[in-house]
Parts: sequence; structure tokens; C-alpha cells
Amino acid sequence: MPASYDVVVIGAGTGGYVAAIRAAQLGKKVAVVEKQKALGGTCLIWGCIPTKALLEHAHAFKVIQDAKEWGVTMPAGAPAIDMRQVHARKDKVVAGLTRGVEFLFKKNRIDWIKGTARLAGTGRVDVVDGDRQTLQASDIIVATGSAPRGVPGIEIDRKRIVTSDEAIHLAEVPRSLVILGGGAVGVEFASIYRRFGSQVTIVELLPRLVPLEDEAVSAELEKSFRKQGITVLTGTRVERAAATAEGVTLQAQTADGKTQPLAADILLVATGRSPVTTGLGTDELGIRMDKGYIRVDSLYRTSAPNIAAIGDVITLDGVAHPQLAHVSSAEGVLVAERLAGQEVRPLNYDHVPVCTYCDPEIGSVGLTEAEARARGYDVRVGSFPYGVLGRAKMAGETEGFVKIVADRRYDEVLGVHMIGPRSTELVAEATLALRLECTVEELVRTIHAHPTFAEAVGEAAHAAHGAAIHL
Ligand SMILES: Cc1cc2nc3c(=O)[nH]c(=O)nc-3n(C[C@H](O)[C@H](O)[C@H](O)COP(=O)(O)OP(=O)(O)OC[C@H]3O[C@@H](n4cnc5c(N)ncnc54)[C@H](O)[C@@H]3O)c2cc1C
Repeated sequence: MPASYDVVVIGAGTGGYVAAIRAAQLGKKVAVVEKQKALGGTCLIWGCIPTKALLEHAHAFKVIQDAKEWGVTMPAGAPAIDMRQVHARKDKVVAGLTRGVEFLFKKNRIDWIKGTARLAGTGRVDVVDGDRQTLQASDIIVATGSAPRGVPGIEIDRKRIVTSDEAIHLAEVPRSLVILGGGAVGVEFASIYRRFGSQVTIVELLPRLVPLEDEAVSAELEKSFRKQGITVLTGTRVERAAATAEGVTLQAQTADGKTQPLAADILLVATGRSPVTTGLGTDELGIRMDKGYIRVDSLYRTSAPNIAAIGDVITLDGVAHPQLAHVSSAEGVLVAERLAGQEVRPLNYDHVPVCTYCDPEIGSVGLTEAEARARGYDVRVGSFPYGVLGRAKMAGETEGFVKIVADRRYDEVLGVHMIGPRSTELVAEATLALRLECTVEELVRTIHAHPTFAEAVGEAAHAAHGAAIHL
């Protein structure tokens, strides 16, 4: 007799494991099939957690390098990075969190079936390796996530030409690093390895770094990166890259049409991620797909009955979907509640906060100025620089600003875009403001504690009304 469950989840990333826990909380009998040796998926094992742990090391190194400014006397000689200790600490953080998910599975009586799952028909999942068996399920949630995407013509050998999966484990700090892709992953690794001492070059095809952010944010990041000694080549296409015994040679075409040779110890390809659906059985079941992604509706139903899909592996009615951990988790909660018979409403993707942990870090939510104008709003904006704040001066972190995009007619806050210290934390206030359909006036009247970085949010609201106090 096959083991029988109310819900079988395929994949234990931040989408799948959260869906499983929520379904179990609501009384469902749940199994999760996960092929990796640990739970937590991309976010915990290769993504959010290891990269942010490395960024914390980079930040600690920065403070130590600035010891003189802080009045700390150091023994003679320049401080140096010990990559063995860096990786040991990072891996300990990762292991602690993945074991934490295992604990939560036990607490919620969720069975972890170790192996690779394949959809085998309505209500059936085959585990084709590991704990081989067939599982029966009233409902199936596919949360198989994504994997690094290559670039045609560039062979990833995982030694000289690497993806983020290898870049989190480099045994030594490369003397030079070229990063292909100026999106979130690319700029975070640029910050990490520049601080550790690498010569870093970022090559981005589009005209600006972090191209999905507000243009003012991209410009500020580029200014700061150049100041830090990072070479930024935007509007540049890499035409060829080849690994050699000593490193990597590249040929790029710059924005003005010139051919530019580049060379580095390591090339990091950070040009996006592809959905993981190979061998999953979606074609055999006739599930509707979009270029390898599973197409779902606003409540994450696939075209097959009783099979839902969430997270990095989906498109929403054919539209690209943000590949973010917290988005996959929110979708997991929603699907679990729907399967338990609760009333659920589609998520509002305009209210998804996006955080990029480069230095200076970025937090944003809602419409950029350009998007708001394109949607026909009568836009007004207000910006406030962190550099004016007492708290920022004390911390020695004075780069960046908070920018509010608002609708002049109803005074509604449409978007908030921050670059600078603690932006990834401050964006929480902005997210709540959008969720509650706040006006700029309400942000102005909200008392912000002094001295805090959050005062920049209140002051940006004042600025949107043309009356910043401290400018
Ligand atoms: C370097 C990097 C940094 C990132 N930083 C951030 C960040 O700071 N903030 C943020 O929000 N997002 C970040 N992300 C994105 C985030 O990690 C993903 O959006 C998130 O992990 C998606 O979750 P998921 O559950 O959809 O898929 P995944 O986390 O990819 O999990 C899918 C799981 O399914 C398993 N699986 C796949 N196929 C099968 C099968 N057939 N059978 C059994 N198991 C299977 C996989 O082994 C995997 O464990 C980052 C990503 C990267 C690469």
C-alpha cells in the first residue's frame, strides 16, 4: 500500500517547507520530498543565508580596517581575511538554520522523504531515488525552485568560470574577479570580494546596475562602487570567455561599440536562474508551461487538478515572477490555507519588498518613479540623504538616500526606494505603509524616534510635501 497524505510537497526550499508547516498547522497530514541532504533549498544552502553571512564578514572587515577612525589600536601590519574561518562560521550559520527546519518538521509531524520526486498522475508522486516509493496525496504542491542559468557560448567549469553556488565557497580570495550580471546576486558578490581585497569588474548588458530598481538608486550604487574601486562596465556584452590554466580571458563589446579584452582569476556568471522541472513529469501530465516554468493562476493552481506550484519555478499567468525567498514563503502559506478551505486572496506583487545587501545596501517596495509615471499617475517625489542624519554620522555610514514616490492627487505612497545604511531593515516600514495604502501625510505625522536611520523615511515624506525639516 502506498503511503497516503493530504498534502505532498516537492522541494523543501523557502516555498515548500513553509507550505508544509502551514498545512500541518491546519491539520493536514504532510510529506515533503527533498533530494538534497539538508532542508531549506537555495535560500538556506546556496543563496540568501551564505551570501549574507559573507557580507557580514565583509562588514566586520571594513570596521577593522577603519580601526584607527574608531580609536582602536591594532598590532602592526594590515588586517587580513582568513577564508577558512570565514567559511567555517558561514557554514555553521547555514547548518544551524537547516537543522532548525528539520526540528520544525518533527515538531509539526511532517515526514521528510529523502529522494527525487516525479509527478506520476493525479494524486500520485513517485520517489525515483533515495527512499524509493510511491506516495498518494489529495493535493500536491510543486516547489522545486531554480538553479543558476548559464550564458550561451560560456562553459561553466565550476573552477575558473563559476556560478553563485561555487562563489560562496571560494577557498581563497581571487586577486581579480569579473562578474557577469549587475543584478542583485552580481552586486552582492562584488561587495563581498572587493572588501576582501579582489580587483572586481562588473559587466552588465543593460545601461545600469540593479536595473529593476529606481534609476536614482542605480546611479547612487554605481557612484559608490566606483569610489570603492569596483570597475563598472554597463551597456557591455561579453562575447567570449575561456578558462585557461592561470585564469579566464574574456572579450567584451562596450557601450560605444569597442572591443575590450578582460582577464581575471575567476569569472562569476550571475545572469539569472532557470526553473528546475527536468524529469518532474510535467510534460507527461500535460501541465501548461512557459519556457520551462510552470504556469499558475493567481491562487497557484496549475492546469492539472489538485497540483499547485509556488516559488521560483512558476510564472503567474505567463508573467515573470519575482524569485525571492519571502515571496515563495507567502505563496506557500496562501496555498496551504486554500487547501485547508480558508478564504484566501491573491497576493499584491506591487507590495513585495526587495532587498539587495550590497554595500551600500538597497531596500525598495512599490513603484519606481518611472513605473508610476508610466501608469499615468501625477507623480511627486521626495528624497532625503542619510548623510544629514546624526545616527548615520555616528555610524560613519553617510552614503545614500530614501526616496518616496507618491501620487499628487490622493497623496498615496506608491513606492519607497532606499540605498544606504540599514535600508534592508527600514523597508519594512515602507512595506506596511503601502499595505495600508498610507498617504504621505500619514508618514509625515508618524513620529520617528531620534536618533535613528528611520528618521530618513519621515524626512523623505516631509520632502515629498516640499518641506524637509533638516535640509
Ligand atoms: C546567491 C543568491 C542569493 C539570494 N539572496 C536572496 C535574498 O537575500 N533574499 C531573497 O528573498 N531571495 C534571495 N535569493 C533567492 C531565493 O533563494 C529563492 O527565491 C528561493 O530560495 C526560492 O525558493 P523555492 O522554495 O521556490 O525554491 P528553492 O529554494 O530553489 O528550493 C527548491 C528545492 O526543491 C528541491 N527539488 C528540486 N527538484 C526536486 C525533485 N524533483 N524532487 C525533490 N526535491 C527537488 C531542491 O533540491 C531544492 O531544495 C537568492 C538566491 C541566490 C542564488
